[in-house]
Amino acid sequence: MSGDRVVAGLRCTEVLEKLSDYIDGALDAPTRSAVEAHVAGCTVCESFGGSVAASVRALRRQRNAGADESIERMRAAVLGKITT
Ligand SMILES: [Zn+2]
Repeated sequence: MSGDRVVAGLRCTEVLEKLSDYIDGALDAPTRSAVEAHVAGCTVCESFGGSVAASVRALRRQRNAGADESIERMRAAVLGKITT
């Protein structure tokens, strides 16, 4: 993708690579914080429809609610926006 940026020590592509682990709650606290800081401060991620940041927040809420099927659909939608 074009416009890959480094924010909070992570590139956009690295954030995406970590996104499923983030969703699964598999990241350690410093990495999770870095992902959240990236999406909060990255204009590239913000530029995607609905914004990756908003999606991550929504995913976190849904994970907490145990809505696994919705998480899978939203993750696919987020990754599709990045790669197309
Ligand atoms: Zn980004």
